[in-house]
Amino acid sequence: MRVLVTGGAGFLGSHLCDRLIEQGHEVICMDNYFTGSKSNVAHLFGNPNFELLRHDVIDPFKVEVDQIYNLACPASPPHYQHNPIKTTKTSVMGAINSLGLAKRVGARVFQASTSEVYGDPEVHPQPESYWGKVNPIGIRSCYDEGKRVAETLFFDYHRQNNVDIRIVRIFNTYGPRMNPDDGRVVSNFIVQALRGQDITIYGDGTQTRSFCYVDDLIEGFLRLMNKDEVVGPINIGNPGEFTMLELAEKVIAKVGGKTKLSFHPLPGDDPKQRKPDITLAQKHLDWQPTVSLDEGLDRTIEYFRNTINV
Ligand code: NAD
Ligand code: UDP
Repeated sequence: MRVLVTGGAGFLGSHLCDRLIEQGHEVICMDNYFTGSKSNVAHLFGNPNFELLRHDVIDPFKVEVDQIYNLACPASPPHYQHNPIKTTKTSVMGAINSLGLAKRVGARVFQASTSEVYGDPEVHPQPESYWGKVNPIGIRSCYDEGKRVAETLFFDYHRQNNVDIRIVRIFNTYGPRMNPDDGRVVSNFIVQALRGQDITIYGDGTQTRSFCYVDDLIEGFLRLMNKDEVVGPINIGNPGEFTMLELAEKVIAKVGGKTKLSFHPLPGDDPKQRKPDITLAQKHLDWQPTVSLDEGLDRTIEYFRNTINV
């Protein structure tokens, strides 16, 4: 098959391109390099099945493809809040352009949605049937509401135009090729510990997240995309739940050194807790995570040790 991956030069997109190339597909990777980089896919440059396109998803695109994975969107709060209007445009116009192309060429189209559609959840863990508690006017809204509108557009193109859609709701994912300056918690803590800097805990560190290793997540993507009859939305994430203090302790224990904790104000609308209910993924995709947080952290620490200047 010929497959388009928007946001393909980012953290998740580059791992997805790798798996698709391994499976023998032709891959068109489209990116504007806002948070991604060519270096994430440089190892694929000589491969005749791989093509890189500099393009912004907010502008329409035409390519003949069988499948489209729409991943283009900054994912880390400091990056998506840098230009919030652009973030909403990226989600909304990116969805419209991906769906318009899918309609035109008859491709199956996949949306990288997010656990952020649940906002600061009152239901715990979060099943797909939960509609969420999202602030429509806060500093995270450009991302959360943009992704919610994208889901709406996916379902309306599906109902109105019979477009073949798939939607995955991704919970916090980490691993090699995260940008060291990305600002997300796993990369921040590891890079700080490796550099001997204080680990920055926002708030009192009792908020929780569930961390999925990237290889597990990509396996879930491929299973959903290539399964008939299951449209989603479907949660993909690791149900292990940890406080940020627990995460910091693990990273310090693994990296060693004299790193201490420093406490900073909690950013606005930061969700208090988050944990996926993965019953649907287990039932429909026979999917569940295989990499524990300890194992995934070891692999990620190894990656950063070899790639950043400490
Ligand atoms: P990332 O920032 O590494 O990747 C996003 C990619 O999209 C980058 O390569 C970036 O340059 C590109 N991009 C951004 N705006 C664009 C635009 N207007 N046009 C073209 N390309 C553009 O983040 P990631 O973690 O790889 O996230 C990928 C997708 O998965 C995003 O849609 C994100 O919302 C979603 N997601 C990720 C997580 C996670 O924990 N990693 C969680 C939930 C959802
Ligand atoms: N966080 C933190 N220190 C950091 C970065 C993040 O304590 O240096 C916290 C942040 O406030 C949030 C959690 O870690 O409660 C996860 O943050 P991240 O930005 O990785 O993802 P998201 O909030 O989008 O789930």
